[in-house]
Amino acid sequence: MHLPPVFEPPSRLLMGPGPSMVAPSVYTALARPTLGHLDPEFVRMMEEVKLMLRAVFRTANPMTFPVSGTGSAGMEFCFANLIEPGDEVVVGVNGVFGTRMVDVAERCGAKVTRVDAPWGRIVEASAVRDALAKVSKPKLVAIVHAETSTGALTPVEEISRLAHDAGALFVLDTVTSLGGCPVEVDAWGVDAIYSGTQKCLSCPPGLSPVSFGPRALEVAAKRRTKVQSWYLDVNLLSSYWGQERVYHHTAPINMNYALHEALRVVLLEGLEARFERHRQSHLALKAGLAELGISIASQEGHQLWQLNAVGVPEGLDEAAARRRLLAEFGIEVGAGLGPLKGKIIRVGLMGETARPENIARFLAAFRACLGRG
Ligand SMILES: *Cc1c(COP(=O)(O)O)cnc(C)c1O
Repeated sequence: MHLPPVFEPPSRLLMGPGPSMVAPSVYTALARPTLGHLDPEFVRMMEEVKLMLRAVFRTANPMTFPVSGTGSAGMEFCFANLIEPGDEVVVGVNGVFGTRMVDVAERCGAKVTRVDAPWGRIVEASAVRDALAKVSKPKLVAIVHAETSTGALTPVEEISRLAHDAGALFVLDTVTSLGGCPVEVDAWGVDAIYSGTQKCLSCPPGLSPVSFGPRALEVAAKRRTKVQSWYLDVNLLSSYWGQERVYHHTAPINMNYALHEALRVVLLEGLEARFERHRQSHLALKAGLAELGISIASQEGHQLWQLNAVGVPEGLDEAAARRRLLAEFGIEVGAGLGPLKGKIIRVGLMGETARPENIARFLAAFRACLGRG
């Protein structure tokens, strides 16, 4: 075969729904020499990753570690371990990722009760309460905290309480929220949670931080049936990521180096300072768009800082605008999905991307696309 030349990625400003920009020190970490996955030095690093993940998730859960795979692997991990065929589960659906949760839960054999909300709006606690009233023995309630497909942030504390009052576990998707806005595993009583590396943690895609609390671990330990997925079985993974270090699979070594460094960067900045930077970035983008007469389309009062659903102005060919942003300005943004296709452009301000100079660069380029440069 004709050998292709070395692949040189073009320079891009990643302002879509993920991946986000990656700090130089994280790229450096990725390039360090690969160790064996049971090397004592790698094991020591794994312990540090676990400790830093607990700090970022704000939890004391010992079972907090990165699943090998992207955010969707974390989703499968939670559902595969907690659901047995025939279990009743309640899932909030207000966008793509709630829809995906339903699909994954059904593949695990769950009988799913959906709590649908219009895309762009939050899942209301009262709607979850009504749904729970109709389910005899709910095993779990699952919600997407930050819906990346629509830009809405659902408050979860009340929903967590409702789940527990109904005797169910509370499962939360924080793929886009972790590292960008407050996530409180212990204070909110979250039993099982997953995230991803490539959104507000600003690490390349490839790992999915997860945490199981005591109630979730008990449910997984007392299953009547084997977890259908061997790869994601928490009972097997706990011997690998726990104290015993029994070989299960080979952890993606260099991805774990990258996550180690990305978590150091997050904690060095400080969570509160990082959240504030995301909030300020959202406000700056919103103000800049307002000058162009453009608003954020998601529900007022619940707009995500890290993913902005920019309303498409009348007469703009948004697909052409996105193509031009990429080709001419090197800026990647995301398209609207499902019912929001053609109605919004998704502008991510996640992690390293959430900086004033990037917002200024986007606004200048977007003005040009609007013919107002
Ligand atoms: C991106 C995302 C996922 C899926 O993560 P992948 O890394 O693409 O597998 C799941 N949930 C939410 C809310 C997301 O934003």
